[in-house]
Amino acid sequence: GNAYMNPAKQMAHLADGDINNAEMRYEWSREVCGVLRNVFKLPGFRHNQLEAINATLSGKDVFVLMPTGGGKSLCYQLPALVYGGKTKGTTIVISPLISLMQDQVEHLLEKGISAAMVSSRGEAGQRRNTFQQLKSGELSLLYVSPEMLTTNSQLRNVISSLYQRDCLARIVIDEAHCVSSWGHDFRPDYKQLGQFKKDYPNVPLMALTATANERVRLDVAFNLNITGCALFTQSFNRPNLYYEVRDKQRDVLEEIKELMQVKYPGKSGIVYCHSKNSCEETATKLNRLGLKVTYYHAGMDPEERVQVQIGWQEGRYQAICATVAFGMGIDKADVRFVVHYTLPRNLEGYYQETGRAGRDGLPSECILYYAYRDATSIMTMIDRDKDIDYDTKEKQRTFLKQVLQYCENQTDCRRHQVLQYFNEKFDSKDCRNQCDNCRIAAVCEFETRDITEITKDIIRTILAIQDDNVTMLHCMDVFRGARTAKIQGAGHNNAPGYAAGKDVERTDMERIFHHLVAQSILKESAIVNRSGYAASYLRAGSRAIFFLSGTERLSLTFLKGGGAKKSKPPPKPVNSAPDATVSKSKATKSKPTKALNKTSRPRFGM
Ligand code: ADP
Ligand code: MG
Ligand code: ZN
Repeated sequence: GNAYMNPAKQMAHLADGDINNAEMRYEWSREVCGVLRNVFKLPGFRHNQLEAINATLSGKDVFVLMPTGGGKSLCYQLPALVYGGKTKGTTIVISPLISLMQDQVEHLLEKGISAAMVSSRGEAGQRRNTFQQLKSGELSLLYVSPEMLTTNSQLRNVISSLYQRDCLARIVIDEAHCVSSWGHDFRPDYKQLGQFKKDYPNVPLMALTATANERVRLDVAFNLNITGCALFTQSFNRPNLYYEVRDKQRDVLEEIKELMQVKYPGKSGIVYCHSKNSCEETATKLNRLGLKVTYYHAGMDPEERVQVQIGWQEGRYQAICATVAFGMGIDKADVRFVVHYTLPRNLEGYYQETGRAGRDGLPSECILYYAYRDATSIMTMIDRDKDIDYDTKEKQRTFLKQVLQYCENQTDCRRHQVLQYFNEKFDSKDCRNQCDNCRIAAVCEFETRDITEITKDIIRTILAIQDDNVTMLHCMDVFRGARTAKIQGAGHNNAPGYAAGKDVERTDMERIFHHLVAQSILKESAIVNRSGYAASYLRAGSRAIFFLSGTERLSLTFLKGGGAKKSKPPPKPVNSAPDATVSKSKATKSKPTKALNKTSRPRFGM
């Protein structure tokens, strides 16, 4: 199929002289293969690389969708060195991150390719020199930041004069999802890039991204004015990655320590944290546990960041505690684990971040530590953010709710869930037990319960007391009929719905409430009180009305009480990680006997 393949197993599937293949029948095919071998020193093409290269050399606009690590760069770097195609001259590459451009330009120069970059950071003399090279046509590739295009008219003029002299080979937009405000990483400057196709209609454009979201894809093509482009896409499934969502409890750091020391000694990974402070704090705590860990975030000076990045690439750290800024474009093939220490803000970003694990095709794992309270605090941050408008806030809230649904969903295959988000159909059988939910499904039984009546009771309860600004915790207490002083003081023990949920188990109740928030039946919103402190209060959400009017039903899947199929041992993962170092006693400890206790899910580890 066209699944993402283990790079080690997908060596030259096309080589020079392979005349049976239609992709080798172009007048430039021989040259393409020569450049691949002699300049890039690679034995063959990966899925869709040659197809995309041929399309752009034919003068078509091209949209390349490939998972992180799939090899997008080659799709435009190689044709920049081919002269037999329908295009000649300089390739302009727009890329969002300066560090990323630097990295690429260095790699190109090492290969003897003439490349340069223009960014706001370069000094004037250097920039003049680059413009000189550009004008004289000696550059094969020029990397520019979108900001430069907007602010620097000299740059625009030089590009325009290249065009007039027929020396503008193609325009490349890397990380093209930044064009779409529906993407997770929208950059306003990217919106201007639609101008290229208007100014230079016959210069081929190539857009590349690892984002598979269909809505984003359409939006990008539309904004770049390449709706008729050739599209190269593939499955975004990464078979060598294991996905798991874990309850975030107090012993998380101990678990991470075990992961590094016992499971992956001598290996390294990334621990994603939500803020600069949290990166530093988490790194310090892990250091105290005797681990070689450091941190990386945008608040550090560039020199320091480069040092950390190099140290990490050379394997001097067991992990980097980093914000999501880390990893984009950094090429390290043997990342064995990606841990999300706090909830990611959207599934798209989550998928890209986890995609940084296992680029070498070997088993690697992605663990997300989930606590509902993290969602509440992110929601509060969104509410309080003064730099974004209402629309953006709504989008971010929607994204977060999707993450919440993903974490709260304890039954459907993780791959199925994520890929469905990208509009890709994935049969969970093909997961081969490489996610927590598939493994749990193999040993435990589930039951789907209709929770429509409970939902109505909860809505009734919240409507009765929401004007008193109540927290979710308080509302749960009212719902299960607790007799706290707070409840009695507010008179909530007389409210409709009081004690309506007295028979619902505590943990089930939490899941139901969280599910209702994810479904927009309840909503949490931050309100700043008189002392300037923001608290999250619960309200009826936009979809509550459909339940009161009785037009919708809702069900939720629960682990069946004591329902573990005791006869069946947990399935052995098909392509298990090299976990020979895990001691016997450890291995037995994590057996799914825990599943008998319906309040806590078993933890598998890979
Ligand atoms: P992306 O931009 O899609 O995340 P990159 O272009 O950075 O991926 O490539 C990821 C890695 O794959 C790089 O180390 C690159 O050298 C390697 N690579 C790309 N194409 C090939 C190929 N045809 N054969 C072997 N390795 C490749
Ligand atoms: Mg890339
Ligand atoms: Zn699965």
